[in-house]
Amino acid sequence: MGHNFFDYSGKVVLVTGASSGIGRATALAFADQGASVVIGDIDDGAAETVELIRQAGGVASFVKTNVSESESVQNFVNMAIDRHGRVDAAFNNAGILPPTAELAQMSEADFDRVIAVDLRGVFLCLKYQIRAMLQTGGGAIVNTTSVAGVIADPGMSPYVAAKHGVIGLTRSAALDYATRGIRINALAPGLIRTPMTDHWLADPEMTKALMSNSPMGRAAEPEEMAGVVLFLCSAAASFVNGAVYLADGAMTAH
Ligand code: NAD
Repeated sequence: MGHNFFDYSGKVVLVTGASSGIGRATALAFADQGASVVIGDIDDGAAETVELIRQAGGVASFVKTNVSESESVQNFVNMAIDRHGRVDAAFNNAGILPPTAELAQMSEADFDRVIAVDLRGVFLCLKYQIRAMLQTGGGAIVNTTSVAGVIADPGMSPYVAAKHGVIGLTRSAALDYATRGIRINALAPGLIRTPMTDHWLADPEMTKALMSNSPMGRAAEPEEMAGVVLFLCSAAASFVNGAVYLADGAMTAH
């Protein structure tokens, strides 16, 4: 029998931003492959994700967490260790969008809010997850950036800055821990159908504009991101480190 790279039984996996969208689909996929999943989310909708996992026979729990607050992130990681004794993998995926505005019209409050969740949140998760992983011999982490971490989208300057920053954090952390058994990579999704983009995809004009920028002519379903994350956290990706993994349907290929 060959080794199954996607077997996560016995592994403890943290997922942030799993009350919906990409995080929920990925939490379900990890649990489906046998992982014990601990979800950190600011939204109580994450309890529904836990329920879906339990109904399917999996193991999951929810720790109400605001990723932009240090104490909250520390509590999230500590709860996972209390419950399961270790952390093997983490998917730092929580994120928010600012209201659309040109840079000179963007409020300072919106800038600070988006940087706090989308950039500082990833920094805090990395910091405390890495401390935990160093205690138990290593692990793998994936941070959600975006195509907006690689190229800019108009009207979203705080988001573009935060997502570019997530790539910087990913690369820095990968270098800092390269010899200590922790791999850190970034997932850069293109357009995915989630509550974050529902309002765009419900608007025919907006959908037309988005599709003109979409070589595959469609948005992805959140489930299409999950396999990439499971791959990056697995031994199949044992030499993939500090990488930005595009899953954008060729959006940035031209
Ligand atoms: P989503 O809105 O369904 O998920 C975002 C999740 O983050 C939710 O569960 C939300 O409750 C959680 N969250 C928000 N603020 C939080 C906080 N302060 N602390 C903890 N949790 C918090 O949207 P999604 O599209 O699934 O987004 C997931 C990630 O993917 C985000 O980082 C987003 O920027 C990124 N992304 C999405 C797309 C897309 O097209 N949908 C494209 C590229 C990148």
